[in-house]
Amino acid sequence: MLRKRLCSIVLLLSMLFVFAACGTDTINTADLTEPQDSVVTDLVSAEKDTDIQEESETPVELDENSSFEVHYLDVGQADAALVLCDDKTMLIDGGNPGDSSLIAAYLKKHSISHLDYVICSHAHDDHVGGLPGALSVATAGAVYAPKTGNDIKSYQSFKSKAQAQGLTIQNPVPGSSIKFGSSTVAFLGPITENSSDLNNTSIVLKITYGETSFLFTGDAEREEEQDILAKNYDLSATVLKVGHHGSENSTSYVFLREIMPKYAIISVGDNNYGHPTEEALSRLRDADVKVYRTDLQGDIIVKSNGKKVTVAPSKNANIETNTTVKQKEETSPAVVGAPVPQEQKQELAQSQEATHSYIANSNTGKLHYAGCYSVDRMKESNKVYMTCTRSEALARGYSPCKNCNP
Ligand SMILES: [Zn+2]
Ligand SMILES: [Zn+2]
Repeated sequence: MLRKRLCSIVLLLSMLFVFAACGTDTINTADLTEPQDSVVTDLVSAEKDTDIQEESETPVELDENSSFEVHYLDVGQADAALVLCDDKTMLIDGGNPGDSSLIAAYLKKHSISHLDYVICSHAHDDHVGGLPGALSVATAGAVYAPKTGNDIKSYQSFKSKAQAQGLTIQNPVPGSSIKFGSSTVAFLGPITENSSDLNNTSIVLKITYGETSFLFTGDAEREEEQDILAKNYDLSATVLKVGHHGSENSTSYVFLREIMPKYAIISVGDNNYGHPTEEALSRLRDADVKVYRTDLQGDIIVKSNGKKVTVAPSKNANIETNTTVKQKEETSPAVVGAPVPQEQKQELAQSQEATHSYIANSNTGKLHYAGCYSVDRMKESNKVYMTCTRSEALARGYSPCKNCNP
């Protein structure tokens, strides 16, 4: 079966190679045949369905009251995902330190005061940053982080918040797994604990719910992907949280070939690294993966009934996201090959507006660029951090500061 999959990939790659020589639009022609309003999509093709059934050890019978959903949160250039299975909860990363209040508010909104598992994929600000905020409003059952810690303030704060709850940070053992409601969480990485690059110490885990599965890769890059591949784990997953915000050095062909996801989520925001890169996007395009992006589509909620997944972005459900923003700016609208209805054009215009880091004053109602000098004089408790477009910030009721004029 693996050979069959490899064969079809080789075939696919060689077909793409031939088509690429004929013209650049060829890859996207498949999209034209897809109904543009298909937000709810079938999990797997017949062939892949068979693969999954063969690969899973014993298919878990799901209770009719059982439920599973992942909320990939829009935390700008950072990662945060809330996973709910039956009555169990798990938070994987919490965005930047400035997202602490956003994460806390999101948990409160969903009446979550206890997180069964809190996972810090690795000790970088854009992943561990908002976790102290989560631990301020919720108790945790268990906390996980890779062995390689970091002296950064946000990681220390995460550690002390966990200790204050009487918890010791656990280091997951690759190859081990834990129960999470009716689903199972398998830890697949990190294999090497002492990588010089903290990104390659990322906890990589796969949650399997019925016949569907979700792979979370933190900021793992090629080096860690290779380590995991060498272990011969079953990496196949329905939904992939793309590594390192769509960096060129993540989501290598060989890694992707083992995952064969139907959907990919890129957690990304305004950044100077060029994320998501055309290299990563084109690999996903070649593997025929439907891509969703938090920078263009806001919070993305994926639900599973154990057989199929449903993807619901909070905005711009139908835009083509396998293409780079640069390509998107060339022409308007950016949807490849399909006419765009009027109301979608409006949404697209909004989505193409640049995102910025703003800090608003909850007391005065003024909106500032994060770098505005008046932010320094602001009381921390009055600061409202946000990464969004100008119209979104103004829509929240704030008025622009006259000095920095955002
Ligand atoms: Zn990151
Ligand atoms: Zn990182």
